Amino acid sequence: MRVKFICESCGDIEFDDENYQCPICNTKLTKVGFMDGHKLININGEQRIQWLENKLGHPLSDEMNNLREDYYKKKRLEREKQKEEEQRRFEEERKTYEWRAMQNAYNSISNPSSARSNVPKCPVCGSTSLKKISLTTRAVKTAAFGTIGAIDDAGKTYKCENCGSKF
Ligand SMILES: [Zn+2]
Ligand SMILES: [Zn+2]
Repeated sequence: MRVKFICESCGDIEFDDENYQCPICNTKLTKVGFMDGHKLININGEQRIQWLENKLGHPLSDEMNNLREDYYKKKRLEREKQKEEEQRRFEEERKTYEWRAMQNAYNSISNPSSARSNVPKCPVCGSTSLKKISLTTRAVKTAAFGTIGAIDDAGKTYKCENCGSKF
């Protein structure tokens, strides 16, 4: 970034190509060369004013100096206020986010509908209507079909009422 315009009346500097008029005193701005623009960005305060006065060939009036400083002060305050506002908004969002996370954690414990997601589901069709394979069923199967039927159920806990898969 470099300074592109100076105001010969109040010593303001501008960076914007669109800004052809001084926002402080409404004087038409003067375009500065590339090297001067670089120089101006690196000097501040008194040094900058001195440089400008040398360049302009006349001192800047107290009235203009005051006008310019007031304007810069106002700008600075606006920027600070904006920063504070952004910080405040950020804090609010952070609080809302934390509150939501807490609510979600709370709901998953206390809300039965979300607690239901912990209930086992059929890995094939997703149905929750499962039947626990009881020892009695195994015992009956063993009695009816011998060991073959019992092996089929070995290590499996549920039978899906919907698609019949065991897992
Ligand atoms: Zn000006
Ligand atoms: Zn199933």
